Amino acid sequence: MSKNIVVSMLTNKCPRCREGKLFVSSNPYNLANITKMNDACPICGQPTEIEVGFYVGTGYVSYALTVAYFVSTFVAWKVLIGMTFDLDDNRILYWLFSAIALVILLQPIFMRLSRSIWIAMFVSYNKNWKEEPLEYNERMDEKMKEH
Ligand SMILES: [Zn+2]
Repeated sequence: MSKNIVVSMLTNKCPRCREGKLFVSSNPYNLANITKMNDACPICGQPTEIEVGFYVGTGYVSYALTVAYFVSTFVAWKVLIGMTFDLDDNRILYWLFSAIALVILLQPIFMRLSRSIWIAMFVSYNKNWKEEPLEYNERMDEKMKEH
């Protein structure tokens, strides 16, 4: 199993052990459970909600992902299909419509990816997660301290 950080984020794995699943359902298109996360990593016990409202900040990640998506599809379309700004050339519109349709279809994946990237920015990989205890800090939600 790969422990690469990019693979770990893309597959929605816990950033601490890179093995446990962050989400309850592994299918992002299970619409009732898109953002339903395990309370803690089922493998190493890392809490997924580090503090109350922790995932509010994912909006920034999601925005950055969306911008990157539009830029890269624009470049890919220009290279592979071509487009000009001439009025009788509709290829730029075809790109726009397909890119918008696809971004809507990809929303569940983007939402999960944003959360995986977000938590990975706060929780670092610990290859000795089996031996070392979880790090608790003042950011941790009160309910987590009771455990
Ligand atoms: Zn874990």
